[in-house]
Amino acid sequence: GRKFFVGGNWKMNGDKKSLGELIKTMNAAKLNADTDVVCGAPTIYLDFVRSKLDAKIGVAAQNCYKVAKGAFTGETSPAMILDCGVKWVILGHSERRHVFGESDELIGQKVAHALECGLGVIACIGEKLDEREAGITEKVVYAQTKVIADNVKDWSKVVLAYEPVWAIGTGKTASPQQAQDVHDKLRQWMKANVSEAVASSVRIIYGGSVTGGTCKELASQKDVDGFLVGGAALKPEIVDIINAKA
Ligand code: 13P
Repeated sequence: GRKFFVGGNWKMNGDKKSLGELIKTMNAAKLNADTDVVCGAPTIYLDFVRSKLDAKIGVAAQNCYKVAKGAFTGETSPAMILDCGVKWVILGHSERRHVFGESDELIGQKVAHALECGLGVIACIGEKLDEREAGITEKVVYAQTKVIADNVKDWSKVVLAYEPVWAIGTGKTASPQQAQDVHDKLRQWMKANVSEAVASSVRIIYGGSVTGGTCKELASQKDVDGFLVGGAALKPEIVDIINAKA
């Protein structure tokens, strides 16, 4: 069985006071031991968050650069992230792709370097509304997944996050059937293009307006192995989402 995985993506939100309170809530909560939990913190707070958060909860950076060091003003390397005791990074998030113009090629290079350095990678993919309406959802997510797959040797360190762009921050959660349908197709793609073993073991998590109210039915879908949560991850509600399978 695939271990349920819930990532919180705090994006560019919070300060030491509010994140400190959220951390206190999470540390004190009864979290399902059968769920991997990882909090994606702003880079500047990675050290702070890692030092406060209970050791059983993982921490992720929300981005990193594709090389170890050098003249890259403003960037953060996987080595620096690991040096803060942080074991995960979110890569290819739709905001990196569409607000900051990151290409598939750059995302692939980041995935390769992060994995080589020993970080776990939450690799994000997902179609935009016009792409879904044009009926090319599969084509889009397969192409994004291919670039990621071309850069992965050890799939045990990768979680694939399907985040339809139209569902992110909009309150329009994908229906359980919509999510299941794409997750199932992604698993079939992995079977055909990577291996049967990876297809059955890789965790495919869903992101996009997940709430305490929508998480249980989504979590009951056969190929939904967890969530990547934005807005609701900043609230005590995240505890209910972590425990969606309990
Ligand atoms: P929301 O849960 O706020 O829609 O954000 C989802 C997301 O982008 C997680 O990475």
